[in-house]
Amino acid sequence: MSKLAPYAATDASSRGRRHKEPGPNYRTEYQRDRDRIVHSSAFRRLEYKTQVFVNHEGDMFRTRLTHSIEVAQISRSIARILNLNEDLSETIALAHDLGHTPFGHAGQDALNYCMKDYGGFEHNLQSLRTVDELEKSYADFAGLNLTFESREGILKHCSPIKAKALGDVGQRFLDKQQPNLEAQAVNLADEIAYNNHDVDDGLRAGLISIEQLNEVALFNTQFIAVKSSYPKLQGRRLVHEIIRRVINVLVVDLIETSQARLQAAAPESVDDVRQQGQALIGFSDEMKEQSLELKRFLRNELYRHYRVHRMTNKADRIIRDLFDGFMTDLHLLPPEQQKTASAYEHNDGKHGRALAVADYIAGMTDRYAIREHRRIFDPSELT
Ligand code: MG
Repeated sequence: MSKLAPYAATDASSRGRRHKEPGPNYRTEYQRDRDRIVHSSAFRRLEYKTQVFVNHEGDMFRTRLTHSIEVAQISRSIARILNLNEDLSETIALAHDLGHTPFGHAGQDALNYCMKDYGGFEHNLQSLRTVDELEKSYADFAGLNLTFESREGILKHCSPIKAKALGDVGQRFLDKQQPNLEAQAVNLADEIAYNNHDVDDGLRAGLISIEQLNEVALFNTQFIAVKSSYPKLQGRRLVHEIIRRVINVLVVDLIETSQARLQAAAPESVDDVRQQGQALIGFSDEMKEQSLELKRFLRNELYRHYRVHRMTNKADRIIRDLFDGFMTDLHLLPPEQQKTASAYEHNDGKHGRALAVADYIAGMTDRYAIREHRRIFDPSELT
């Protein structure tokens, strides 16, 4: 790793872990965080969770696991060139979706609806809850006992009410402070990754077309460039050639804009970064506008496509049925979850029960949720 900038996160300036541990022998603190994530069961389950297309629709589509790896790749490129802590960016990227429900955004919306009387459900908060509480592998503590900086980065959004309950890691939402720069890089790498891979997956599924995409400036500029160099190029290679250039244009703009902002603001430490009035990692105004145009296109043409909608509708039903079923009859839960739900309920009444049910559902993969739904509600399973 080249020399880190003064505003990069370092082991020496880290605010540490919740449970004190001896330092790692041959790794940095953030490398250790990353490795704990890679070895977690929540990380393995990302393989079977939907990004946009339900996991079993085809083997070529992105899943939350491949999405997270793409985000990590882009985050590391940005972090390295800006002399930020590449390991911390990678850690946050690999962990950022750990708390995601099955069935992508449809699942998140459904669970949030189910939890409306119990404080709602936020997947960023659930990612933090996963690394802080739900993973149970270490003898000395619940969760993965990650550093403050990794936890700060994982908690991308948080409502003020929930922030208050979280203590130190929630404080920035009350004080309106920025997260570390490595986390800021991941936030935008996430956006770059999903906009582009959703274009790719949408084209692959035949739900959107190149003709439609040519109305989006970001895509059209690269389409023209590729076609002028390779007039005969078609199919998957044409698509890939365009998308890789779009990603590059976005990343280059992000790096150059951020470099200029960092130079102007000249923060001298991570705490300086946190005090800034706005994020220092960002796109130029023009690129921000173009990126928004692509987002709008995807929302209207892909995420609201009737075939996607049919799928999300089904997903919505599965989540609601499971939630209502477990809330009505705790004995439908497997023994371990039943024990947790009873313990939570003992402490916190119906809120506690709802929290345990939401944890169980959020942790499910797509196919596990489908199977669980069938086992509980399908009368033909009796035979
Ligand atoms: Mg993401």
